[in-house]
Amino acid sequence: MASRSDFPLPAGRLEERFADKHPLYTEGEAAAEAARCLYCFDAPCIPACPTAIDIPTFIRKIATRNLAGSARTILESNLLGASCARVCPVEILCEGACVYVPWGRPAVSIGRLQRYAMEKGGSPELLERARRSGRSVGLVGSGPASLACAGTLALLGHDAVVYEKDPLPGGLNTTGVAPYKLPVADTLAEVGFLRALGVRIQTGVEIGRDLHGGELLRRHDAVFLGAGLGSDLRLDVPGAEGPGVVGALEWIRRMKLDPKTSIAGVRRAAVIGGGNTAVDVARELAQLGVAEVRLIYRRSAKEMPAYGHEWRAAREDGVVLIPNAIVKEVVRQVAREGGGPGRPERLRLAVAKEGKATNEERAAIQVDKVIVAIGRSKAPTFVAQFPGVSVDESGRLRVDPKSGCTGNPRVFAGGDAANGGREVVHAVAEGQRAARAIDAMLQEGAMVREAGVSRRERND
Ligand code: SF4
Repeated sequence: MASRSDFPLPAGRLEERFADKHPLYTEGEAAAEAARCLYCFDAPCIPACPTAIDIPTFIRKIATRNLAGSARTILESNLLGASCARVCPVEILCEGACVYVPWGRPAVSIGRLQRYAMEKGGSPELLERARRSGRSVGLVGSGPASLACAGTLALLGHDAVVYEKDPLPGGLNTTGVAPYKLPVADTLAEVGFLRALGVRIQTGVEIGRDLHGGELLRRHDAVFLGAGLGSDLRLDVPGAEGPGVVGALEWIRRMKLDPKTSIAGVRRAAVIGGGNTAVDVARELAQLGVAEVRLIYRRSAKEMPAYGHEWRAAREDGVVLIPNAIVKEVVRQVAREGGGPGRPERLRLAVAKEGKATNEERAAIQVDKVIVAIGRSKAPTFVAQFPGVSVDESGRLRVDPKSGCTGNPRVFAGGDAANGGREVVHAVAEGQRAARAIDAMLQEGAMVREAGVSRRERND
Protein backbone atom coordinates (compact mmCIF):
# COMPACT_ATOMS: atom_id res chain seq x y z
CA MET A 1 0.00 0.00 0.00
CA ALA A 2 1.32 3.42 -0.86
CA SER A 3 -0.03 5.31 2.17
CA ARG A 4 1.81 5.21 5.50
CA SER A 5 0.52 5.73 8.98
CA ASP A 6 0.66 8.90 11.08
CA PHE A 7 0.79 6.87 14.28
CA PRO A 8 4.33 6.02 15.44
CA LEU A 9 4.67 2.79 17.43
CA PRO A 10 7.03 2.22 20.37
CA ALA A 11 9.86 -0.28 19.92
CA GLY A 12 10.26 -3.37 22.12
CA ARG A 13 6.74 -4.80 21.81
CA LEU A 14 6.30 -8.58 21.98
CA GLU A 15 4.65 -8.41 18.54
CA GLU A 16 8.04 -7.65 16.98
CA ARG A 17 9.30 -11.11 17.97
CA PHE A 18 6.89 -12.97 15.69
CA ALA A 19 7.88 -14.11 12.24
CA ASP A 20 5.53 -13.29 9.36
CA LYS A 21 3.12 -16.25 8.93
CA HIS A 22 3.14 -16.03 5.12
CA PRO A 23 5.93 -13.70 3.96
CA LEU A 24 5.45 -11.53 0.87
CA TYR A 25 6.11 -13.41 -2.38
CA THR A 26 9.06 -12.46 -4.54
CA GLU A 27 8.22 -11.46 -8.11
CA GLY A 28 9.16 -14.91 -9.41
CA GLU A 29 7.14 -16.72 -6.73
CA ALA A 30 4.08 -14.57 -7.44
CA ALA A 31 4.35 -15.16 -11.19
CA ALA A 32 4.73 -18.92 -10.72
CA GLU A 33 1.78 -19.16 -8.34
CA ALA A 34 -0.41 -16.94 -10.55
CA ALA A 35 0.36 -19.23 -13.48
CA ARG A 36 -1.24 -22.14 -11.57
CA CYS A 37 -4.68 -20.48 -11.70
CA LEU A 38 -6.91 -22.01 -14.36
CA TYR A 39 -9.03 -18.83 -14.67
CA CYS A 40 -12.12 -20.96 -14.32
CA PHE A 41 -15.10 -19.68 -16.27
CA ASP A 42 -17.48 -20.43 -13.40
CA ALA A 43 -14.86 -19.74 -10.70
CA PRO A 44 -16.12 -21.22 -7.40
CA CYS A 45 -13.59 -19.14 -5.46
CA ILE A 46 -15.57 -15.94 -6.18
CA PRO A 47 -18.85 -16.77 -4.40
CA ALA A 48 -16.81 -18.28 -1.56
CA CYS A 49 -15.44 -14.79 -0.84
CA PRO A 50 -17.94 -12.76 1.26
CA THR A 51 -16.93 -9.65 -0.72
CA ALA A 52 -17.04 -11.53 -4.08
CA ILE A 53 -13.60 -10.37 -5.29
CA ASP A 54 -13.06 -11.28 -8.96
CA ILE A 55 -10.23 -13.63 -8.05
CA PRO A 56 -9.30 -15.06 -11.46
CA THR A 57 -9.13 -11.55 -12.92
CA PHE A 58 -6.81 -10.15 -10.24
CA ILE A 59 -4.61 -13.24 -10.50
CA ARG A 60 -4.45 -12.95 -14.30
CA LYS A 61 -3.29 -9.34 -13.92
CA ILE A 62 -0.47 -10.49 -11.62
CA ALA A 63 0.55 -13.00 -14.28
CA THR A 64 0.72 -10.19 -16.85
CA ARG A 65 2.65 -7.93 -14.39
CA ASN A 66 -0.26 -5.45 -14.20
CA LEU A 67 -0.04 -5.03 -10.45
CA ALA A 68 -1.92 -1.72 -10.23
CA GLY A 69 -4.75 -3.26 -12.28
CA SER A 70 -4.72 -6.31 -10.04
CA ALA A 71 -4.98 -4.16 -6.88
CA ARG A 72 -7.78 -2.14 -8.48
CA THR A 73 -9.77 -5.32 -9.16
CA ILE A 74 -9.42 -6.29 -5.49
CA LEU A 75 -10.27 -2.83 -4.17
CA GLU A 76 -13.36 -2.52 -6.33
CA SER A 77 -14.87 -5.36 -4.27
CA ASN A 78 -13.04 -4.99 -0.98
CA LEU A 79 -11.50 -1.75 0.29
CA LEU A 80 -9.69 -3.66 3.02
CA GLY A 81 -8.17 -6.14 0.59
CA ALA A 82 -4.76 -5.67 2.17
CA SER A 83 -5.74 -6.82 5.66
CA CYS A 84 -8.19 -9.45 4.41
CA ALA A 85 -5.34 -11.02 2.43
CA ARG A 86 -3.53 -11.51 5.75
CA VAL A 87 -6.29 -12.49 8.18
CA CYS A 88 -8.95 -14.30 6.15
CA PRO A 89 -9.35 -18.02 6.91
CA VAL A 90 -8.76 -18.72 3.22
CA GLU A 91 -8.68 -22.46 3.90
CA ILE A 92 -12.45 -22.39 4.48
CA LEU A 93 -13.29 -19.52 2.10
CA CYS A 94 -11.80 -18.88 -1.38
CA GLU A 95 -8.97 -21.43 -1.27
CA GLY A 96 -11.25 -24.05 0.22
CA ALA A 97 -13.47 -23.68 -2.86
CA CYS A 98 -10.62 -23.80 -5.42
CA VAL A 99 -11.08 -26.49 -8.06
CA TYR A 100 -7.67 -27.96 -7.21
CA VAL A 101 -8.89 -29.10 -3.77
CA PRO A 102 -11.21 -31.95 -4.90
CA TRP A 103 -8.36 -33.17 -7.14
CA GLY A 104 -6.20 -33.62 -4.05
CA ARG A 105 -3.80 -30.83 -5.03
CA PRO A 106 -2.93 -27.64 -3.13
CA ALA A 107 -5.32 -24.75 -3.83
CA VAL A 108 -4.00 -21.67 -5.59
CA SER A 109 -2.58 -19.45 -2.81
CA ILE A 110 -5.15 -16.71 -3.30
CA GLY A 111 -4.44 -15.00 0.02
CA ARG A 112 -0.72 -14.64 -0.64
CA LEU A 113 -1.32 -13.46 -4.21
CA GLN A 114 -3.80 -10.89 -2.93
CA ARG A 115 -1.25 -9.64 -0.42
CA TYR A 116 1.36 -9.38 -3.19
CA ALA A 117 -0.99 -7.39 -5.46
CA MET A 118 -2.01 -5.02 -2.67
CA GLU A 119 1.49 -4.38 -1.36
CA LYS A 120 3.04 -3.94 -4.80
CA GLY A 121 0.18 -2.26 -6.65
CA GLY A 122 -2.27 -0.80 -4.09
CA SER A 123 -2.70 2.97 -4.07
CA PRO A 124 -5.53 5.44 -3.28
CA GLU A 125 -5.07 6.96 -6.75
CA LEU A 126 -6.53 3.80 -8.29
CA LEU A 127 -10.03 4.70 -7.13
CA GLU A 128 -12.21 7.52 -8.41
CA ARG A 129 -14.25 9.70 -6.05
CA ALA A 130 -17.70 10.93 -7.00
CA ARG A 131 -18.57 14.63 -6.85
CA ARG A 132 -19.09 15.91 -3.25
CA SER A 133 -22.70 15.41 -2.19
CA GLY A 134 -22.68 17.77 0.78
CA ARG A 135 -24.11 14.97 2.97
CA SER A 136 -22.31 13.50 5.94
CA VAL A 137 -22.29 10.23 7.83
CA GLY A 138 -20.93 9.61 11.34
CA LEU A 139 -19.46 6.18 12.02
CA VAL A 140 -18.95 4.75 15.49
CA GLY A 141 -15.79 2.66 15.91
CA SER A 142 -12.90 2.37 13.48
CA GLY A 143 -12.75 -1.39 12.97
CA PRO A 144 -13.09 -3.10 9.59
CA ALA A 145 -16.88 -2.62 9.27
CA SER A 146 -16.71 1.13 9.88
CA LEU A 147 -13.60 1.64 7.75
CA ALA A 148 -15.09 -0.27 4.80
CA CYS A 149 -18.36 1.64 5.17
CA ALA A 150 -16.59 5.01 5.51
CA GLY A 151 -14.29 4.37 2.53
CA THR A 152 -17.22 3.39 0.32
CA LEU A 153 -19.18 6.48 1.40
CA ALA A 154 -16.17 8.72 0.71
CA LEU A 155 -15.86 7.28 -2.81
CA LEU A 156 -19.58 7.95 -3.31
CA GLY A 157 -18.97 11.62 -2.50
CA HIS A 158 -20.20 11.79 1.09
CA ASP A 159 -18.30 13.12 4.11
CA ALA A 160 -17.44 10.19 6.35
CA VAL A 161 -16.37 10.95 9.92
CA VAL A 162 -15.24 8.03 12.08
CA TYR A 163 -15.30 8.32 15.90
CA GLU A 164 -12.90 5.98 17.71
CA LYS A 165 -12.58 5.78 21.50
CA ASP A 166 -9.04 4.37 21.47
CA PRO A 167 -5.94 6.45 20.74
CA LEU A 168 -5.17 4.23 17.72
CA PRO A 169 -7.65 3.52 14.90
CA GLY A 170 -8.27 0.13 13.28
CA GLY A 171 -10.39 -1.66 15.90
CA LEU A 172 -9.69 -5.36 16.26
CA ASN A 173 -7.32 -5.32 13.27
CA THR A 174 -5.05 -3.09 15.40
CA THR A 175 -5.63 -4.62 18.81
CA GLY A 176 -7.01 -8.13 18.41
CA VAL A 177 -5.57 -9.96 15.39
CA ALA A 178 -2.77 -12.44 16.03
CA PRO A 179 0.53 -10.56 15.53
CA TYR A 180 1.99 -13.27 13.27
CA LYS A 181 -0.92 -12.67 10.87
CA LEU A 182 -1.16 -8.87 10.80
CA PRO A 183 1.19 -6.50 12.66
CA VAL A 184 -0.12 -3.14 13.89
CA ALA A 185 2.04 -1.11 11.50
CA ASP A 186 0.39 -2.75 8.50
CA THR A 187 -3.11 -2.14 9.90
CA LEU A 188 -2.27 1.51 10.44
CA ALA A 189 -0.91 1.77 6.89
CA GLU A 190 -4.28 0.54 5.66
CA VAL A 191 -6.01 3.14 7.84
CA GLY A 192 -3.77 5.70 6.11
CA PHE A 193 -5.03 4.40 2.77
CA LEU A 194 -8.65 4.97 3.87
CA ARG A 195 -7.80 8.48 5.05
CA ALA A 196 -6.27 9.20 1.65
CA LEU A 197 -9.67 8.31 0.15
CA GLY A 198 -11.16 11.14 2.22
CA VAL A 199 -12.24 9.36 5.42
CA ARG A 200 -11.79 11.52 8.53
CA ILE A 201 -10.97 9.80 11.83
CA GLN A 202 -11.31 11.34 15.28
CA THR A 203 -9.59 9.18 17.90
CA GLY A 204 -10.10 9.45 21.66
CA VAL A 205 -13.85 10.14 21.25
CA GLU A 206 -16.16 7.69 22.99
CA ILE A 207 -19.82 7.76 22.00
CA GLY A 208 -21.97 7.81 25.11
CA ARG A 209 -19.19 9.43 27.17
CA ASP A 210 -17.72 12.27 25.09
CA LEU A 211 -20.49 12.55 22.54
CA HIS A 212 -24.16 11.61 23.01
CA GLY A 213 -25.87 9.52 20.33
CA GLY A 214 -28.47 12.29 19.89
CA GLU A 215 -25.69 14.79 19.09
CA LEU A 216 -24.29 12.39 16.49
CA LEU A 217 -27.71 12.24 14.80
CA ARG A 218 -27.90 16.06 14.82
CA ARG A 219 -24.42 16.40 13.27
CA HIS A 220 -24.86 13.84 10.51
CA ASP A 221 -27.45 12.79 7.94
CA ALA A 222 -26.94 9.13 8.88
CA VAL A 223 -25.02 7.08 11.44
CA PHE A 224 -23.28 3.72 11.12
CA LEU A 225 -22.68 1.67 14.27
CA GLY A 226 -19.57 -0.47 13.83
CA ALA A 227 -18.29 -0.43 17.37
CA GLY A 228 -17.83 -4.21 17.68
CA LEU A 229 -18.35 -6.13 20.89
CA GLY A 230 -17.44 -5.25 24.45
CA SER A 231 -14.59 -6.40 26.69
CA ASP A 232 -13.45 -9.95 27.54
CA LEU A 233 -15.83 -12.05 29.64
CA ARG A 234 -14.28 -12.81 33.02
CA LEU A 235 -13.72 -16.15 34.67
CA ASP A 236 -16.18 -16.41 37.56
CA VAL A 237 -14.24 -18.65 39.98
CA PRO A 238 -12.29 -18.06 43.21
CA GLY A 239 -8.85 -16.56 42.59
CA ALA A 240 -9.64 -15.32 39.07
CA GLU A 241 -9.10 -11.65 39.91
CA GLY A 242 -5.51 -10.53 40.29
CA PRO A 243 -2.11 -10.53 38.59
CA GLY A 244 -1.31 -13.24 36.05
CA VAL A 245 -4.91 -13.79 34.88
CA VAL A 246 -5.97 -11.70 31.91
CA GLY A 247 -8.62 -11.68 29.17
CA ALA A 248 -7.48 -12.82 25.72
CA LEU A 249 -8.17 -9.60 23.83
CA GLU A 250 -6.56 -7.52 26.54
CA TRP A 251 -3.49 -9.79 26.34
CA ILE A 252 -3.29 -9.53 22.55
CA ARG A 253 -3.63 -5.75 22.79
CA ARG A 254 -0.72 -5.63 25.28
CA MET A 255 1.45 -7.87 23.09
CA LYS A 256 0.83 -5.67 20.09
CA LEU A 257 1.03 -2.22 21.66
CA ASP A 258 2.60 -2.15 25.12
CA PRO A 259 6.42 -2.38 25.24
CA LYS A 260 6.24 -3.02 29.01
CA THR A 261 4.41 -6.33 28.52
CA SER A 262 6.80 -9.23 28.97
CA ILE A 263 6.70 -13.00 28.97
CA ALA A 264 9.83 -13.28 31.14
CA GLY A 265 9.49 -15.93 33.87
CA VAL A 266 6.42 -17.59 32.31
CA ARG A 267 7.08 -21.30 31.80
CA ARG A 268 3.59 -22.78 32.11
CA ALA A 269 0.56 -21.08 30.65
CA ALA A 270 -3.08 -22.08 30.40
CA VAL A 271 -5.54 -20.67 27.89
CA ILE A 272 -9.19 -21.18 28.73
CA GLY A 273 -11.54 -21.56 25.76
CA GLY A 274 -11.84 -23.48 22.50
CA GLY A 275 -12.50 -20.80 19.87
CA ASN A 276 -10.20 -19.22 17.33
CA THR A 277 -9.07 -16.49 19.74
CA ALA A 278 -8.11 -19.12 22.34
CA VAL A 279 -6.15 -21.10 19.76
CA ASP A 280 -4.44 -17.95 18.44
CA VAL A 281 -3.33 -16.94 21.93
CA ALA A 282 -2.09 -20.46 22.71
CA ARG A 283 -0.02 -20.45 19.50
CA GLU A 284 1.38 -17.03 20.32
CA LEU A 285 2.50 -18.14 23.79
CA ALA A 286 4.14 -21.27 22.33
CA GLN A 287 5.87 -19.23 19.62
CA LEU A 288 7.14 -16.80 22.25
CA GLY A 289 8.92 -19.71 23.93
CA VAL A 290 6.61 -20.64 26.84
CA ALA A 291 7.59 -24.26 27.54
CA GLU A 292 4.14 -25.65 28.44
CA VAL A 293 0.98 -24.23 26.89
CA ARG A 294 -2.32 -25.95 27.67
CA LEU A 295 -5.69 -25.23 26.18
CA ILE A 296 -8.51 -25.96 28.61
CA TYR A 297 -11.84 -26.53 26.92
CA ARG A 298 -15.14 -27.49 28.51
CA ARG A 299 -16.18 -29.87 25.73
CA SER A 300 -14.46 -32.46 23.51
CA ALA A 301 -11.82 -31.68 20.86
CA LYS A 302 -14.38 -32.39 18.13
CA GLU A 303 -16.72 -29.75 19.54
CA MET A 304 -14.13 -26.95 19.61
CA PRO A 305 -15.41 -23.99 17.58
CA ALA A 306 -11.86 -23.14 16.40
CA TYR A 307 -11.05 -23.91 12.75
CA GLY A 308 -9.54 -27.36 12.30
CA HIS A 309 -6.51 -26.06 10.39
CA GLU A 310 -5.75 -23.54 13.17
CA TRP A 311 -5.97 -26.20 15.87
CA ARG A 312 -3.72 -28.56 13.88
CA ALA A 313 -1.16 -25.72 13.56
CA ALA A 314 -1.40 -25.09 17.31
CA ARG A 315 -0.66 -28.75 18.03
CA GLU A 316 2.39 -28.51 15.76
CA ASP A 317 3.47 -25.48 17.83
CA GLY A 318 3.32 -27.75 20.91
CA VAL A 319 -0.02 -26.71 22.45
CA VAL A 320 -1.68 -29.49 24.49
CA LEU A 321 -5.46 -29.76 24.88
CA ILE A 322 -7.21 -30.67 28.13
CA PRO A 323 -10.76 -31.39 26.91
CA ASN A 324 -13.99 -31.69 28.93
CA ALA A 325 -12.44 -29.58 31.69
CA ILE A 326 -13.86 -26.70 33.72
CA VAL A 327 -11.73 -24.41 35.87
CA LYS A 328 -12.91 -24.45 39.47
CA GLU A 329 -10.29 -22.24 41.11
CA VAL A 330 -7.14 -20.27 40.40
CA VAL A 331 -4.89 -21.13 43.34
CA ARG A 332 -2.43 -18.33 44.01
CA GLN A 333 0.86 -18.03 45.86
CA VAL A 334 0.64 -16.56 49.34
CA ALA A 335 0.78 -12.81 48.92
CA ARG A 336 3.39 -10.76 50.65
CA GLU A 337 1.87 -8.94 53.59
CA GLY A 338 -0.51 -6.23 52.40
CA GLY A 339 0.46 -6.87 48.77
CA GLY A 340 -2.88 -8.13 47.39
CA PRO A 341 -3.30 -11.49 45.64
CA GLY A 342 -0.15 -13.46 44.77
CA ARG A 343 0.78 -14.88 41.36
CA PRO A 344 -1.14 -17.90 39.97
CA GLU A 345 0.36 -21.21 41.07
CA ARG A 346 -2.07 -23.84 39.79
CA LEU A 347 -5.52 -24.35 38.37
CA ARG A 348 -7.97 -26.73 40.01
CA LEU A 349 -10.07 -28.44 37.36
CA ALA A 350 -13.13 -30.66 37.13
CA VAL A 351 -12.59 -33.03 34.20
CA ALA A 352 -15.58 -34.97 32.88
CA LYS A 353 -14.52 -38.55 32.10
CA GLU A 354 -15.75 -39.63 28.66
CA GLY A 355 -17.39 -36.20 28.42
CA LYS A 356 -19.98 -37.02 31.11
CA ALA A 357 -20.48 -34.27 33.70
CA THR A 358 -21.94 -36.87 36.07
CA ASN A 359 -18.65 -38.76 35.98
CA GLU A 360 -16.01 -36.14 36.67
CA GLU A 361 -12.75 -36.17 38.54
CA ARG A 362 -10.67 -33.43 40.11
CA ALA A 363 -7.31 -32.47 38.67
CA ALA A 364 -4.79 -29.68 39.01
CA ILE A 365 -2.15 -28.22 36.71
CA GLN A 366 0.74 -25.88 37.50
CA VAL A 367 0.52 -22.44 35.86
CA ASP A 368 2.35 -19.10 35.87
CA LYS A 369 -0.06 -17.36 33.51
CA VAL A 370 -3.75 -17.77 32.66
CA ILE A 371 -5.41 -16.25 29.59
CA VAL A 372 -9.21 -16.27 29.53
CA ALA A 373 -10.71 -16.58 26.03
CA ILE A 374 -14.35 -17.43 26.74
CA GLY A 375 -15.97 -14.66 24.70
CA ARG A 376 -16.80 -10.99 24.84
CA SER A 377 -19.67 -8.95 26.21
CA LYS A 378 -22.27 -8.00 23.62
CA ALA A 379 -23.24 -4.71 21.96
CA PRO A 380 -22.12 -1.58 23.85
CA THR A 381 -24.75 0.08 26.06
CA PHE A 382 -24.55 3.44 24.24
CA VAL A 383 -26.83 2.04 21.51
CA ALA A 384 -29.75 2.91 23.83
CA GLN A 385 -29.01 6.56 22.95
CA PHE A 386 -30.25 5.96 19.39
CA PRO A 387 -34.08 5.90 19.26
CA GLY A 388 -35.45 2.81 17.52
CA VAL A 389 -32.21 0.80 17.75
CA SER A 390 -32.61 -2.46 19.63
CA VAL A 391 -30.74 -5.67 20.42
CA ASP A 392 -31.91 -9.26 20.09
CA GLU A 393 -31.95 -11.95 22.78
CA SER A 394 -28.25 -12.71 22.04
CA GLY A 395 -27.23 -9.09 22.53
CA ARG A 396 -26.71 -8.35 18.80
CA LEU A 397 -27.99 -5.20 17.16
CA ARG A 398 -31.14 -5.91 15.16
CA VAL A 399 -30.59 -5.00 11.49
CA ASP A 400 -32.21 -5.64 8.14
CA PRO A 401 -29.88 -8.25 6.59
CA LYS A 402 -30.08 -6.65 3.13
CA SER A 403 -29.23 -3.07 4.13
CA GLY A 404 -27.87 -3.13 7.67
CA CYS A 405 -30.60 -0.65 8.64
CA THR A 406 -31.67 -0.77 12.30
CA GLY A 407 -35.14 0.13 13.60
CA ASN A 408 -34.14 3.77 13.07
CA PRO A 409 -34.15 4.66 9.33
CA ARG A 410 -31.11 6.93 9.79
CA VAL A 411 -29.04 4.43 11.77
CA PHE A 412 -27.26 1.46 10.20
CA ALA A 413 -24.99 -1.18 11.73
CA GLY A 414 -22.63 -3.98 10.77
CA GLY A 415 -19.65 -6.01 11.92
CA ASP A 416 -19.37 -7.85 15.23
CA ALA A 417 -21.96 -5.70 17.05
CA ALA A 418 -24.60 -6.90 14.57
CA ASN A 419 -23.33 -10.37 13.62
CA GLY A 420 -22.10 -11.44 17.08
CA GLY A 421 -18.46 -11.89 16.02
CA ARG A 422 -17.49 -13.20 12.57
CA GLU A 423 -14.47 -12.79 10.31
CA VAL A 424 -12.95 -9.45 9.27
CA VAL A 425 -14.11 -10.05 5.71
CA HIS A 426 -17.74 -10.41 6.86
CA ALA A 427 -17.45 -7.07 8.67
CA VAL A 428 -16.06 -5.50 5.48
CA ALA A 429 -18.91 -6.93 3.40
CA GLU A 430 -21.50 -5.67 5.89
CA GLY A 431 -19.89 -2.20 6.07
CA GLN A 432 -19.81 -1.82 2.29
CA ARG A 433 -23.38 -3.08 1.94
CA ALA A 434 -24.59 -0.56 4.55
CA ALA A 435 -22.70 2.23 2.74
CA ARG A 436 -24.61 1.50 -0.46
CA ALA A 437 -27.91 1.47 1.46
CA ILE A 438 -27.02 4.77 3.17
CA ASP A 439 -26.11 6.27 -0.21
CA ALA A 440 -29.47 5.17 -1.65
CA MET A 441 -31.27 6.65 1.37
CA LEU A 442 -29.39 9.97 1.05
CA GLN A 443 -30.03 10.14 -2.69
CA GLU A 444 -33.72 9.41 -2.16
CA GLY A 445 -33.83 12.17 0.47
CA ALA A 446 -32.13 14.57 -1.96
CA MET A 447 -34.70 13.75 -4.67
CA VAL A 448 -37.58 14.29 -2.23
CA ARG A 449 -36.06 17.63 -1.16
CA GLU A 450 -35.55 18.71 -4.77
CA ALA A 451 -39.15 17.75 -5.58
CA GLY A 452 -40.32 19.79 -2.55
CA VAL A 453 -38.30 22.82 -3.67
CA SER A 454 -39.73 22.62 -7.22
CA ARG A 455 -43.27 22.41 -5.82
CA ARG A 456 -42.64 25.47 -3.63
CA GLU A 457 -41.12 27.32 -6.58
CA ARG A 458 -44.19 26.47 -8.65
CA ASN A 459 -46.46 27.74 -5.87
CA ASP A 460 -44.52 31.03 -5.43
FE1 SF4 B 1 -8.13 -20.05 -10.09
FE2 SF4 B 1 -8.82 -21.91 -8.24
FE3 SF4 B 1 -10.38 -19.76 -8.61
FE4 SF4 B 1 -10.22 -21.66 -10.54
S1 SF4 B 1 -11.08 -21.88 -8.45
S2 SF4 B 1 -10.20 -19.40 -10.82
S3 SF4 B 1 -8.07 -22.30 -10.31
S4 SF4 B 1 -8.25 -19.75 -7.86
